[in-house]
Amino acid sequence: MKNVLLIVDIQNDFLPGGALAVADGDAIIPGVNALTELEGWDSIVLTQDFHPAGHSSFASAHDGKAVYDTVEMPYGTQSLWPDHCVIGTPGAEFASTLNSDAANVVIRKGFRMHIDSYSAFMENDGETSTGLAGTLTDLGGGDPSKVRVFVVGLATDFCAGYSAVDARNAGFEVVAVRDLMRGIDIDGSIDAMWEQLRDAGVEIVASSDVAGMIG
Ligand SMILES: [Zn+2]
Repeated sequence: MKNVLLIVDIQNDFLPGGALAVADGDAIIPGVNALTELEGWDSIVLTQDFHPAGHSSFASAHDGKAVYDTVEMPYGTQSLWPDHCVIGTPGAEFASTLNSDAANVVIRKGFRMHIDSYSAFMENDGETSTGLAGTLTDLGGGDPSKVRVFVVGLATDFCAGYSAVDARNAGFEVVAVRDLMRGIDIDGSIDAMWEQLRDAGVEIVASSDVAGMIG
């Protein structure tokens, strides 16, 4: 079994003080850094939400719409967000305290103007791949069931959660590290995501369990 640490969107705009701050988002960084120091990872992947100015997921790009409203896109219903993680701004950068040098792969997502991407694997149209599934399948010698993806990061109910669900859909074993995730919570979306993760067959563990699993 190959083991992959997938660190989702630990970027300044998702941390307290950022444009789309996740409450307590910075609290997970020391624990995430500790995981990167473990022996036994075959790959460490960072994702980076990375939007052009005026991106279609921003409420400011839609007349008469407010943040957290929804809009119908050709691919379905899209939630609208504050302007965040705009390419070239400090908000798009990884947290300076994150051990980002540990990663051998960086996946940028949401850079196409008219498609948002929560997941590290599939953009929100459900058709456009980021390429990560292919990269990790190669790691397993062509068999995704020989690859186990440990998910940490932000936000539980959006990018981190959908990354875990899509990793299962791609055939990987998936582990969510519950104490190293934090959520936004819109109308109960955190609880709903944990239920979706369990239904998808995602294993849910504590960070203290991880060393024993990959050793
Ligand atoms: Zn975004």
